[in-house]
Amino acid sequence: MSDPRHNAGIGMTSARTRERLIQRLRDQGLANLAVLDRIRNLPRHVFVDEALASRAYEDTALPIGFGQTISQPFIVAKMTEALLLGGPLHNVLEIGTGCGYQTAVLAPLVTRLSTVERVKPLLDRAKLRLKELGIKNVRFRHGDGMQGWKAHAPYDAILCAAAPLAVPKALLEQLSPKGGRLVLPVGPEGAQELYRIVRRDDHFIRDKLGGVSFVPLVAGTA
Ligand code: SAH
Repeated sequence: MSDPRHNAGIGMTSARTRERLIQRLRDQGLANLAVLDRIRNLPRHVFVDEALASRAYEDTALPIGFGQTISQPFIVAKMTEALLLGGPLHNVLEIGTGCGYQTAVLAPLVTRLSTVERVKPLLDRAKLRLKELGIKNVRFRHGDGMQGWKAHAPYDAILCAAAPLAVPKALLEQLSPKGGRLVLPVGPEGAQELYRIVRRDDHFIRDKLGGVSFVPLVAGTA
């Protein structure tokens, strides 16, 4: 590929470095092989600044500009696993594209992925990266994810990568009534919980998946 970062520091992007990350995820209880394989094969260093590339395979969040971060691989794996539990996904919505890493992990595991980001330059860069990676089943939107993306609803699943104080109503409404599921962090900084909410007609069944730390979901666009 033309991006010089693909060749930067062979050591830090080596198969061994990536395998160490996968082992760490397994040690923490992640078991979905499709998800682990996807994380193993997707280069994470192309999603961060060159200066941070040497840290790309650490299991940590890293800055991507505009006060935002690329999600920690453990969290990406955990949310993707939670989303996939319950069968194959055809129509999926992601809120908070960021640098596009979570988008790129999820895209090949579903039929169609729609992603919404409020910060335009982040969205534009993510779009370019995914194109370079040959990912073609993603549609992008610059907008306020709190409103979901009604045009393509209902969704089999929605993944939200930023934390609202309360679950946005629009996201619940845009879930398929036949088992559509929403995975998202909820709560103020320092006290967030990850939830999976499954919709059966007008019933919403909530599961808590543990404490997490996300940037806030902010209304409006930038
Ligand atoms: N999963 C992303 C990380 C996302 S960080 C990755 O792997 O890079 C959370 C992202 O949510 C940020 O990019 C932030 O700008 C975005 N965001 C926050 N509020 C939003 C909203 N209301 N609508 C859409 N995106 C939002």
